Amino acid sequence: MRCVSCSSPLVKDVRDITYTYKGQSTMIPRIGGEYCSNCDESIHDEDEANTLSLAMLEFNKSVDNDLKQKEP
Ligand SMILES: [Zn+2]
Repeated sequence: MRCVSCSSPLVKDVRDITYTYKGQSTMIPRIGGEYCSNCDESIHDEDEANTLSLAMLEFNKSVDNDLKQKEP
């Protein structure tokens, strides 16, 4: 399979994904998938994609909570 954005070969791997929301970053560990050898593009199967989007949603919530608490 090839990368959708740059056509480089994809490599099957398990990686930690750095995710940024409203200027804050988190690490989402051990996400398996096909990763581009040239850019940040990656393809995930349904389970992996679900794990990833759940982790992102959780992080979004905690960032929103933090921001709320900082309001005067
Ligand atoms: Zn690529």
